[in-house]
Amino acid sequence: MPPIRSRAGKNRAVQRRFTPYFGNKIADIFLGDSSRHFTIHADLICKSSPYFRKKLQGNRKEIAGSCSICFDDLDTGDQQLTYCTTCGGNFHEECTTQWFKQSRGRLCPLCRGLWSKRCKNQSVRLLSLCQNDFAVYRDWLYSGHVTYDHAVQQDDFKPMVRAYLFSMYVGDVKFGTAVLQAMLDWYEDKGSYPDQDAVALAYGTYYDEDAIDRCYKENAANNLPGLHRLQRFLVDTYMAVAHATWFEDEDWHAYPHEFLRDLVVAMYYKHPAKNKWNIDTWKAELEAEEWSVQEQN
Ligand SMILES: [Zn+2]
Ligand SMILES: [Zn+2]
Repeated sequence: MPPIRSRAGKNRAVQRRFTPYFGNKIADIFLGDSSRHFTIHADLICKSSPYFRKKLQGNRKEIAGSCSICFDDLDTGDQQLTYCTTCGGNFHEECTTQWFKQSRGRLCPLCRGLWSKRCKNQSVRLLSLCQNDFAVYRDWLYSGHVTYDHAVQQDDFKPMVRAYLFSMYVGDVKFGTAVLQAMLDWYEDKGSYPDQDAVALAYGTYYDEDAIDRCYKENAANNLPGLHRLQRFLVDTYMAVAHATWFEDEDWHAYPHEFLRDLVVAMYYKHPAKNKWNIDTWKAELEAEEWSVQEQN
C-alpha cells in the first residue's frame, strides 16, 4: 500500500445532525433464531429507516411537515408524537388528546377512521449475521457517530462496506452517508484506503462463507443508486491515491474486473491524453527513430 499524504490536521466540517426524536415506545430487534436482542426506541429507528418503519409501524407516514391539528411543525424534538394506524398520519400526542376531548368519539382528524390504540408489532427479527452491522447502526442512531473498532480491525475496511450495505438494506441513506464519511476520516487520519477485499465486497464478487450475499447483496442489486454511490466512492478513493507505483505494486488480479473498468474510465476523464491520436505525428517519430538507429549502426 503506497504512503499518502495525511491530512489529519485539516479542519473537518462539523457533523450536523438534528436532535434525535426518541419517542416513548421501545422495540426489540432480535438476531437470528436466538433470544438475543437489542432494545431501541421505536420512533427513533422508524424515523430514520423506512424498512423498520414498515416492519414496526405499518403504514405510518414519514415524520415530516406539520401536525394536521395545530399546524405547527411535527418534528420539534420536544413533543411526543402519535399516529393513526388507519391512515398513517402523524400528530402531536397532546393535540390528539385535546381533539378527542372536543370531538365526541375517538376519530382520526384526518381520515375519520376509528382511532385505535392498538400497538403494531414491536419487534423485528434480523438475520444473526447482521449483528455487528446493526450494532454500528444503533450507535449511530443514538450518537450521530459511526463508531468502529479500528484498533481490532487494523486496516480492514470490510466492516465499513458491510455497514454501508446494511444502510441500503434498511433504506437509511443518512446512515450510508455517515459510513462513507467515517471511511473518509479513517483514510485521512491513517492514510490507508479500502483494500481489494473491501472493493470486492462492494462489487459483489467477494466470497464469504457468512453469505453476506444472500442478506445484503440481493437487496443491493435492487438498490442501484446506493450501490453505485458506494462504488463511485471507492473509485474516487483509489483515484486520490493513484500514482505510477500503485500500478506496479498492486496485484491487479485481486480486483474485480468491473472495478478496474470503472477506475480506468474515471481516470481517463480526469486525465485525458493531452495530444489526440495523430497518425502523422506518430509516423514522423518512427522515421526519426529509424534515422537514429541507422546512425548508430
Ligand atoms: Zn399539533
Ligand atoms: Zn387516520
